[in-house]
Amino acid sequence: MADLGKIIEKALNAGFTDAAPLDVATLELREDIRANCEENKCGMYGKCWSCPPACGELDELRGKIKKYSQGIIVQTYGELEDEFDFETTRELMKKHSASVKKLAGELAEEYDVLPLGAGTCGLCETCSYPDPCRFPKYQISSMEAYGLFVSDVCKKNNVQYYHGKNTQTFVGCYLLR
Ligand code: SF4
Repeated sequence: MADLGKIIEKALNAGFTDAAPLDVATLELREDIRANCEENKCGMYGKCWSCPPACGELDELRGKIKKYSQGIIVQTYGELEDEFDFETTRELMKKHSASVKKLAGELAEEYDVLPLGAGTCGLCETCSYPDPCRFPKYQISSMEAYGLFVSDVCKKNNVQYYHGKNTQTFVGCYLLR
């Protein structure tokens, strides 16, 4: 079994604002959440191996996460000047993605790990899709691509999601075995 205390420490060192144990039994892969990807608000639907539909159907992903028995949940959050402060939102997202990648790389050296972030994979400057993925073992999907309702996962794991008016929170998780 992985030492979650040690992994949480690594997560904080990787730059996350917060990290806590995740009970993998709380992960419910929902079709309605996954369907949001089809609206393609981020512009990555059908453009990357880590995003739908290429990342696999939910049944396939349910089978994939079954083999993991432990996990942690991570957050990057911060204050915005106001609700239109898109610049800080972008900076927080960039910081979160960098931390997700950093910790994913570190954990992959020691564990079988499935990292789930916010947004598209981002390991390569431009995804090779539809040509074969350059690093299939390391690609990073978003929690939403796995049909996970982020605020609900936080709630079920006793992790605060809303940090107050004019704040922005990005979430990710790492499943381990
Ligand atoms: S590792 Fe590179 S090629 Fe593979 S899904 Fe990520 S961005 Fe695309």
